[in-house]
Amino acid sequence: MLKIGCHLSASKGYLAMGKQAARIGANTFQFFTRNPRGGAARALDLDDIASYRSYAAEHGFFPILAHAPYTLNACSADEKLREFARNTMADDLARLEHIPGTLYNFHPGSHVKQGPEIGIRFIAEMLNAILKPGQSTTVLLETMAGKGSEVGRTFEELRAVIDRVEQNQLLGVCLDTCHVSDGGYDIVNRLDAVLDEFDRIIGLDRLKAVHLNDSKNPLGSHKDRHEKIGQGSIGLDAFERIINHPALRNLPFYLETPNDVEGYAREIALLKSLFHEE
Ligand code: FE
Ligand code: FE
Ligand code: ZN
Repeated sequence: MLKIGCHLSASKGYLAMGKQAARIGANTFQFFTRNPRGGAARALDLDDIASYRSYAAEHGFFPILAHAPYTLNACSADEKLREFARNTMADDLARLEHIPGTLYNFHPGSHVKQGPEIGIRFIAEMLNAILKPGQSTTVLLETMAGKGSEVGRTFEELRAVIDRVEQNQLLGVCLDTCHVSDGGYDIVNRLDAVLDEFDRIIGLDRLKAVHLNDSKNPLGSHKDRHEKIGQGSIGLDAFERIINHPALRNLPFYLETPNDVEGYAREIALLKSLFHEE
């Protein structure tokens, strides 16, 4: 069965997201843990979480993906900003323990002139400060487009972070199709080779989720502008190969395309029609 969902607004809580996901044919979803620009989290509503958990169990949902605010920068040169990233992520992870087995995705950060080595060290330091051996959430580093000084454009950089984290059994990777294409990995013409490279450098066992986005820009553009599925430089044929690839087909796929909820419903239906059941 295709595990497919999209990014949903968290403003009405977990049960509302679950119902919306089911209505549009999804069996998982992604959401921001708080305002994408950071700031305070909503009050923790344990009744809502309990209702969501029974709804998800009844509907056979797959684990959901919580996305950290994208402005967090774990490798900022400013110690205050690094501390803010660390506290925010620690608080997100504490809250997510109420929904066991959740995935938590974050953008590694931007090193801003400090260089990737220092960036990688700060990111690993943060993870070493907050990852707890018994936690049930898997933390995912997202592959980045390489816009500005983003850390995580190359598989080598992600590997370097993972290697420096003590509790790295709690770490995985979320592969964003727009980002890797913008980052220079040719998933349109060389999908097998890219996945072999991922396996050699990071290990496919670390790959836990895929962000399915087409790209407004060509291979290697380092831009990070998402496009609707089939309307960008990646194209529908490549998405059909991606969702059916033996190394990917059992992973959860999350759409982050420029769409309203009805647009997501259409993309989910389209992707389901392209998925080859075994
Ligand atoms: Fe992201
Ligand atoms: Fe993404
Ligand atoms: Zn993006």
